[in-house]
Amino acid sequence: MIYDSIIIGAGPAGIVAALQMKRSGLHVVLFEKGEIGGLLRNANCVENYLGFPDGISGRELICSFQDHLCRHKVPTIREEVVEIGKDGAVFSVRTSGHTYFSSTVVIATGTAPKKAGIKGEEECCGSRLFYEAADLPADGQQHAVLVIGGGDAAFDYALNLSERGYVPTIVMRDSVSCLPLLKMRVEKKGVHIVEHMPVARISLGVGQLEVHCLSECFQADYVLIAAGREPRYPRITAKDRKGLYFVGDVRSGSYRQVHIATGDALHAAMEISHFLSSHSQYETKLQ
Ligand SMILES: Cc1cc2nc3c(=O)[nH]c(=O)nc-3n(C[C@H](O)[C@H](O)[C@H](O)COP(=O)(O)OP(=O)(O)OC[C@H]3O[C@@H](n4cnc5c(N)ncnc54)[C@H](O)[C@@H]3O)c2cc1C
Repeated sequence: MIYDSIIIGAGPAGIVAALQMKRSGLHVVLFEKGEIGGLLRNANCVENYLGFPDGISGRELICSFQDHLCRHKVPTIREEVVEIGKDGAVFSVRTSGHTYFSSTVVIATGTAPKKAGIKGEEECCGSRLFYEAADLPADGQQHAVLVIGGGDAAFDYALNLSERGYVPTIVMRDSVSCLPLLKMRVEKKGVHIVEHMPVARISLGVGQLEVHCLSECFQADYVLIAAGREPRYPRITAKDRKGLYFVGDVRSGSYRQVHIATGDALHAAMEISHFLSSHSQYETKLQ
């Protein structure tokens, strides 16, 4: 079977692309390696999403996206895409167990967190050290979390964590660079903010992590690093890239927001519908 389009990544961008193409009557399938909704699951309160003047949590927004996908019966396969190839005009999309075929491919795979390059970071990663707030285990205890970073994500994470019962402290190499309103809210929560405090090393102490800075050593149950993000996508071996589209955060540079990602995806989906219909008219004329 050859799909009209395979969409890789069920974050906001991939969901919008899939919905739009399904509405246009195209035969599509959406792939997701993790949770539906993507990075948005970390957002404490989304205040710039049209139609929600009081704001809405990332998780609530995702629930409505899932409902939307369900109602429009968009087929979703929970597998990680590892490679995209092309033979003639047909793309091959390979996961660990299967290969799927399509006329077009939409890459909506978003971003991966950047490592901070701190000594000991690799060793502690996964059990005590994370890059997304949603990955911290929730057991209702008042765990101390050291958030490393001074931008919007670090401050949004700190708000999210304090609302979930954790006790966050934010440390950063330089000074605060987040939106003033985020800083104000974090301060209101009583979160300790430490500027000009580069972290030199992280090590596992007795039951807790030890975070060594030049002039101070912090103890924490968990460390959460928000040191920026970079595009990620599967290996592409297709030489002819006609019919291959990148949408959303994977190509947004530093302006990574839901409306930008979904607008981008909608644009690509409409272009694909146009591309496929003009292609099939061409084929009809040839017959
Ligand atoms: C703390 C925080 C707060 C935020 N707050 C806001 C806000 O208030 N307002 C706003 O507009 N934006 C906000 N954002 C940004 C917003 O979440 C992103 O812009 C948006 O999620 C980007 O959507 P996307 O679909 O392009 O990528 P993503 O949401 O990153 O989705 C990509 C999806 O692709 C999947 N994937 C990746 N690789 C593969 C593969 N090989 N195979 C299968 N699946 C794959 C991933 O698992 C993921 O689900 C926030 C982000 C963070 C971190």
